[in-house]
Amino acid sequence: MSFNHPTTVLVIGGGAAGIMAAITAAREGAAATILEKNERIGRKILATGNGRCNLTNTDLHLKHYHGQNPKFAYTALTEFNYQNTIDFFANLGIMPKTETGGKVFPFSGQASSVLDVLRFEMEQRKIIVICQADINKIKKTDNNFYATCKDGRKFQANRLILAAGGKASPNLGSNGSGFSLAQSLGHHIIEPFPALVRLQLAESFLKQVQGFKFEGTAEIIVDNKAKARATGEILFTANGISGPPILQLSRKAGEYLQKQLKVWLKLSLINHLSTEQLEQILLKRWHNQPSQSLAFSFTGFIHKRIIPAMLKAAGIEDINKKVSNLSSKEIKQIASILQDWRFQVTGTDSWSAAQVTAGGVAVNEVNPQTLESKKVKGLYLAGEILDIDGDCGGYNLQWAWSSGYIAGKNAAFV
Ligand SMILES: Cc1cc2nc3c(=O)[nH]c(=O)nc-3n(C[C@H](O)[C@H](O)[C@H](O)COP(=O)(O)OP(=O)(O)OC[C@H]3O[C@@H](n4cnc5c(N)ncnc54)[C@H](O)[C@@H]3O)c2cc1C
Repeated sequence: MSFNHPTTVLVIGGGAAGIMAAITAAREGAAATILEKNERIGRKILATGNGRCNLTNTDLHLKHYHGQNPKFAYTALTEFNYQNTIDFFANLGIMPKTETGGKVFPFSGQASSVLDVLRFEMEQRKIIVICQADINKIKKTDNNFYATCKDGRKFQANRLILAAGGKASPNLGSNGSGFSLAQSLGHHIIEPFPALVRLQLAESFLKQVQGFKFEGTAEIIVDNKAKARATGEILFTANGISGPPILQLSRKAGEYLQKQLKVWLKLSLINHLSTEQLEQILLKRWHNQPSQSLAFSFTGFIHKRIIPAMLKAAGIEDINKKVSNLSSKEIKQIASILQDWRFQVTGTDSWSAAQVTAGGVAVNEVNPQTLESKKVKGLYLAGEILDIDGDCGGYNLQWAWSSGYIAGKNAAFV
């Protein structure tokens, strides 16, 4: 690369991956331009971590990544790792704050501060940002790429980085158009599905318990086998279930639902006691207050709103019967439902409610060392557009930073 004629790099998509790719390419001496369909870049960054931006995680490990070949992410996550991410942002002024589960946020508590420092660095590096540029055509002839906007504007460069995201939260910009662009260049798409999303259940009592939260354990069960498990605050919604453990499990549930398999959610409302201990506690309560109705006997132990549904699910016909009239079979059924309550998962919420896209551009068509396409020389891919998705906890932004860095670094050189 000569100083007088820097490599020109077009970055399609001004999200976390595209911004990181443009900054890295510019730091390597390339002339980088971001083409962004929204009226401004980084809209999704502002929405991350409930507006606080969980930008990485101290426990950066491949086990937190998914896709048809998660090992693909290894090189990028190693070359631009947790410490590189912390250093990169510290250099720009972001002081990190580590919270429970290794989640790292900016000390300011503001996602906007992450975008502000990235924008400042982009200005320093003279990166051109063109917004309201919705690219719907990419062509490569000889050594140049031509990107055309829906409104007819055309842009040309030596290198092109496709960082247009997936399909999750299309109101923030990424609507799957990146997949169409990748396909038009010869790439295959692993069928995408929403991840880090609420699960839908078909129970008729949901409206009555909507908003009820509890600290419990959830498991995904397929063919009577536990496939994934998570613990934390679980929340019933009007049409299903949510909360951090559910979002975490949604990837697994979506994977099996996509295969048309029956997926069950096993909930444990009481996860800190063994079944024997739980039975003892219930028996003691009932022994102390033998004239209480069964439904009332849970007052102070289980949230009122869930008691009728829980007892019905345990197979109790008359939930107002006296506790002294409970049969030993019924006692066992009640203790069991409190720790193993099964719900059929009928689906996940839609793209508009999803945080992440599972699936995307098939990674066997991309060089893991450089993130250059094996189909089109000079084309690079970064971020959520690729068939790599991470757990909740900073892993998706870390993938965007790491893959953006690798794509930007390699695209900068002719
Ligand atoms: C509500 C929410 C909260 C989240 N919180 C976290 C969190 O705290 N931590 C975490 O690690 N992850 C979080 N994520 C996930 C994380 O934000 C994404 O995985 C990550 O931002 C993906 O970055 P990206 O650059 O690959 O894609 P995107 O951020 O989706 O960026 C793609 C960009 O490309 C643009 N674009 C799309 N198509 C075109 C086109 N044809 N032409 C031009 N431009 C185009 C889009 O407008 C968009 O700006 C969250 C996601 C959501 C929705």
